[in-house]
Order: sequence, then C-alpha cells, then structure tokens
Amino acid sequence: MEQATVVRNAGSRYELSALPEWRPFPAVLRGKVRLGGSSSTNPVAVGDRVLYCEGENGAPAQINGVLPRDNYLIRRSTNLSRRTHVIASNLDRVFVVCTLYFPELKLPFLDRLLVTCGVYHIPVTILLNKIDLYAEEAPEQVERFVEIYRSAGYEVLPLSAAKGQGVDGLKALCSSGVNLFCGESGVGKSTLLKAVNPALSPRTGGISVSHLQGCHTTSLYEMFPSGNGGFIIDMPGLRGFGLVDLEKEEIYKYFPEMLAASAGCRFTPCTHTHEPGCAVKEAVDAGEIFPERYNSYLGMLEEDRKFR
Ligand code: GDP
Ligand code: ZN
Repeated sequence: MEQATVVRNAGSRYELSALPEWRPFPAVLRGKVRLGGSSSTNPVAVGDRVLYCEGENGAPAQINGVLPRDNYLIRRSTNLSRRTHVIASNLDRVFVVCTLYFPELKLPFLDRLLVTCGVYHIPVTILLNKIDLYAEEAPEQVERFVEIYRSAGYEVLPLSAAKGQGVDGLKALCSSGVNLFCGESGVGKSTLLKAVNPALSPRTGGISVSHLQGCHTTSLYEMFPSGNGGFIIDMPGLRGFGLVDLEKEEIYKYFPEMLAASAGCRFTPCTHTHEPGCAVKEAVDAGEIFPERYNSYLGMLEEDRKFR
C-alpha cells in the first residue's frame, strides 16, 4: 500500500499527493474507513497522511486508512450540532491574518484562536496586515498591538499585502511544512496568499458543496504549494472555528503570560479572578499583563459558564 497526503477535500471527494511531490490525483474512501467510529463528520481531512491503493482502469485511488495525526483543528459541523468537523491536520504552523481596521480587530476573537492553536500544540504567527493604511497615522496602535502579542510569546509580523511590505519575511516562513491561513473575511488573506505565490488563485468565502440534503454543510478545504518548498491551506471563513475541548480551569494555561505569572498564586487551583494573593491579577495591576488579554480570559471563562 502507498502513502500520500490529502490535499483537497470537498464532500466525499478527495485528492492526494505524495508530499513534498506535488501531483494531486483523485481518491475515494473505502466504506470501512468512512464508518470508522469517529464522532466527526469527516473521518479524513486535508493534511491527513493516508494509505491508499491505486485505482484500476483510471478509477480514483482508494483510501484504506488514516495514519495517526500530529495535531488537528476542528469546528462544529453546524452551529447547533455536537458533531465536529476536522478542518485540517498535521499542521506545522497557523497564520492568523488580522488588521487593525477594515474590518475592525476583535481581540477576544483573536485570543480565542490563539488559545485553540495552543491547545492543539500548533505554532502560530500573527500577520498584522494593511499597515499601509494606519502605520503612519497611528504608529502607537501598531506598537501596542505588537507589544501585547510579542510579550505574550507570539510571533507577530506587521505587513502590507497590497504594498508588498513584509511579504518576503512571510514567504520565508512558508518555505517548509504545511501552513494554515485563517482570518475573518476582508482582512486580506487572498491578497496575501497571492503575494506569497502569484501562481495561486485561492477562492474565498468557503464554497458549500453538499448542503442539499440540509443536514450539514461541507466546505471545501484545499492545500496549495507555496511555490518555495512549503504548502498552504486556505481556510475558508471562520465560522465555528475556535472550538476546543477545554475545562474552565485550564483556560489560563493557554495565555502564556498568565501561565508564567500563575506560578506565584497563593492558592491552587486559582481562577485568577477573585482569589487573594493571585499573582496573575497582581501582574495585570502592575501592567505586566495587558488588560486586553486579561479581559479576553475573563470573557472565555464567562462564555464557558454560559454553555454549561
Ligand atoms: P480576504 O477576504 O481576507 O481574502 O480579503 P481580500 O484579499 O479579498 O482583501 C479584502 C480587501 O482588502 C480588498 O479590497 C483588498 O484589496 C484589500 N487589501 C488587502 N490587503 C491590503 C493591504 O495590505 N492594504 C490595503 N490598503 N488594502 C488591502
Ligand atoms: Zn491566580
């Protein structure tokens, strides 16, 4: 049996390529794999390394099994569903594309994505796009953003896809591994991907390909070569992303600066909300932890309570 990576998934149709070689070919699942006791709506996702048999007489290859995943990201398969959908697996890096304006940045939302990546042990780089629009008029806002996230331990790359600023640095980061790009619509993700590899024409908006039965929507996920040795997955939309299986008591561990400060808390466990001798709150008061980040944490605690 041969081994390859899933590079495209639309409903029940797949394409595989034996990465790093780029030569995608069609594949289908054997029934047995399809039924394999997974609670997710897609037992095989983009990024999965699979075992397959060649199709005979031009038929699609048959996927016979999925190798264990290093990591993966999931979303709810529909807004209300308990079932999940695997977005992508075996990621080397997630790039979160955002911008201070157009559309306006929502830090709690960004922080939730960062927590999700932390839970799944996926390195994250924050791409602050469209700096041509505001870096000159509001340099202090850019500085503050960069400081908040760099001091928390994240890599931050300010850039402008439109003006090509910072794009070389981004290209260098995409020159190996499998890199997932996500970001709210309008932040400039497509422009950025085209700047990385002009040969790409990623579609936007998340095309729904099999919602006709009305039970769940299946989005198209696909991988592209970065053009310099790596691979890129363009994540359509952001609906339902940020789903993690995380106990309330664990959330602070995925705010790296809070985790570091929490070693000094008087009580364990400490929720870092009301306890006396809480080193996290002291760090917030001392300006060592940014209030924006602490508020995101409180928001996640609150939300968690809402869902229980
Ligand atoms: P997507 O929805 O995230 O894929 O965003 P697009 O790539 O379609 O970009 C949304 C809008 O922002 C378009 O009008 C782009 O021309 C614009 N845009 C993208 N990057 C930049 C940038 O770096 N600077 C400026 N000024 N506009 C940009
Ligand atoms: Zn505490």
